[in-house]
Amino acid sequence: MPNVLIIEDESHIAELERDYLEAYGIQSDIATTGEEGLRKALTNGYDLILLDLMLPGINGFELCKKLRSEVDIPILIVTAKKEDIDKIRGFDRGADDYIEKPFNPNELVARIKAHIARYQRLIHKDGDAHAIKIGALSIETRSRRVFVNDVERVLTAKEYELLSFLATHSNIVFSKEHLFERLWSADSIGDSSTITVHIRKIREKIEEDPSNPKYIETVWGVGYRFRKE
Ligand code: CA
Repeated sequence: MPNVLIIEDESHIAELERDYLEAYGIQSDIATTGEEGLRKALTNGYDLILLDLMLPGINGFELCKKLRSEVDIPILIVTAKKEDIDKIRGFDRGADDYIEKPFNPNELVARIKAHIARYQRLIHKDGDAHAIKIGALSIETRSRRVFVNDVERVLTAKEYELLSFLATHSNIVFSKEHLFERLWSADSIGDSSTITVHIRKIREKIEEDPSNPKYIETVWGVGYRFRKE
C-alpha cells in the first residue's frame, strides 16, 4: 500500500486529506510542523510528500528544498497563495507539482496517484520495469527473485520483502521497530529482533563479505539503510 506523508498544520485539512487518501487505498501519516515533517521523511519510507507551504515558523520553500536534498520521492505542494504558484513554477529542483487550496479532493488523489505511479516507473527504469539493479545485485520484483552477478540467491518470502522494501526506499534509515511494524502483520509472533536475524540472513545471501556489507548498512543506534550511490 502506498504511504504518503502529509505536512500540514491545520488539522481539519490534514484529516480531510488523510481520509480521502485512505478511501483510495493510500496510507498516510500527518506531521503538523516542518521539523516533524523533515524527521518523519528521513526515518520512514514514503512514496510521496504532500506539503503545505504555509506552516508556522518555517519557510515552506526552504523546507521543500531541504526535503528535496534528502529524498527523491515526489513532493506535491499545497498552497492557498496565488503569488506562490509562479514561485513554485520557477523553483529549481523543488516540488514536482502543486495544487491550490481549496482543492478538489478527487483531483488531489488523482495527482497523488499519478505521481506515485510515475516515480515507481522511474526507480525501476534502466530498461527493465520489474527489476531493481544496484551494482552486482538485481532484485526482480515481478518474479520476486534475487540475483548476484546473475547467480540466483534464494531468499525466503520475508527476507525478500525486507530486502525489496529497503531497496525501494534506498538511503533512508529505518529502525528495526519500524521495519517490523511495516512488514510483519500485527498478529505475527516475534519482535523487532526478528529484523536483526533477517538482515543477517539476507547479508549472508547477497553480500560478498557479510561482515562488511555493501548493500544493507547498519546505522548504529538507529537502524538499517540500503545504500545506493
Ligand atoms: Ca497551513
